[in-house]
Amino acid sequence: MTETMKISASKQAVETFQKGYPLIHEDMVNKREKLSEEGTVFDLMTPQGQFIAKAYYGLQNKGIGWILTNKKEEAIDQQFFVGKLSAALQRRKAFFEDESTTAFRIFNGEGDGIGGLTIDYFNGYYMLQWYSAGIYAFRSLIIRALEAVTAYEGLYEKRRFQQQGQYIEGDDFVKGKEAPAPLHVKENGMTFAVYLNDGAMVGIFLDQREARKRLRDEYSAGKTVLNTFSYTGAFSVAAHHGGAAKTVDVDVANRSKSRVQENFELNGVISEDQEIRIMDVFAYFDYAKKKNITYDVIVLDPPSFARTKKRTFSAAKDYTSLLVDAISIIKDGGTIIASTNFGGFGMKAFQKQIDKACTKAEVKQNVTERVRLPDDHPYTASYKEGDYLKVVFIEITK
Ligand code: SAH
Repeated sequence: MTETMKISASKQAVETFQKGYPLIHEDMVNKREKLSEEGTVFDLMTPQGQFIAKAYYGLQNKGIGWILTNKKEEAIDQQFFVGKLSAALQRRKAFFEDESTTAFRIFNGEGDGIGGLTIDYFNGYYMLQWYSAGIYAFRSLIIRALEAVTAYEGLYEKRRFQQQGQYIEGDDFVKGKEAPAPLHVKENGMTFAVYLNDGAMVGIFLDQREARKRLRDEYSAGKTVLNTFSYTGAFSVAAHHGGAAKTVDVDVANRSKSRVQENFELNGVISEDQEIRIMDVFAYFDYAKKKNITYDVIVLDPPSFARTKKRTFSAAKDYTSLLVDAISIIKDGGTIIASTNFGGFGMKAFQKQIDKACTKAEVKQNVTERVRLPDDHPYTASYKEGDYLKVVFIEITK
């Protein structure tokens, strides 16, 4: 057997790794040029030559690899992956037993012990997502491990490791039976259409499950709801299940219209009562202001970064002004559901943006709840960026 490569951590990084930080940033190791082939397993050492952990080399925009184990003798073989996957499945037992929810995450990267890999379950089918060529090098081992611990109808994958972590176009079917397109999945009794083999996104963001449920159960009855950045209308579907009087969905992408309609039909929502608008959210705010259209509830769930023909939006820089726009068309006493999946700042910094917006717009805020990642999206305490989702329900008094 060839000797495992040894890479030494930079002096400043040793303690961070010893405390369990799982991601290796470029500047946390010395002589990283020794690493050439993604997927290489190496021992991370102190500058004095003591073993810290075993890691793999894989390039993501986040870093150059992930820690796999701090046990020196543990081999990174099929048994290793079987162990991680079966522990992850065990953790989701309650999800498998709950018949009202058939779509959830069964493996959440470093939160389940292997950075760079997520696996989602969609009503009998599994979707593996690879975030570097490094983790993809373990593909057949991981698929065999998955097969050793569970049965499935079919397997799909998304390779998200083109430059800047972009999705690589292609046939995403791996093996087993092909899923119907659309495949119908359930979430807390609601039905959603997903397409496992139709580009980068399947049609539902599983991490928002709890926020959708809160919207449905506590904020929708009799209410008018504006769902911005609506994508397939999942928040509006939840609002209708909760008895909303009317929803308006706004998204700049053309595909949005038929996908929202499809989800409405699946849930018995009469779509004539609803508006689905294909337009820029910022243009919609201008339009609503001009026409004095106001809402009881506004959902703001923008991507962290977005570029349209007219402007770029960055959650870090522009969330405050997005909130100011929303405040201008919220009814007195209405609720803004402000969400961001940007891992670059935490809840405190997000709340600061909310405070700023309320001061600027001269309104009072009352945060009625904060929703974070659901239980199928575990993260490790030593890696805060993994706890990325922040959803704040803000009651606005004018
Ligand atoms: N809130 C959605 C997910 C949003 S995904 C859900 O819960 O399912 C982000 C969406 O924002 C994409 O559909 C994209 O087309 C849309 N988008 C990005 N920039 C936009 C803009 N300026 N105006 C309207 N939609 C935008």
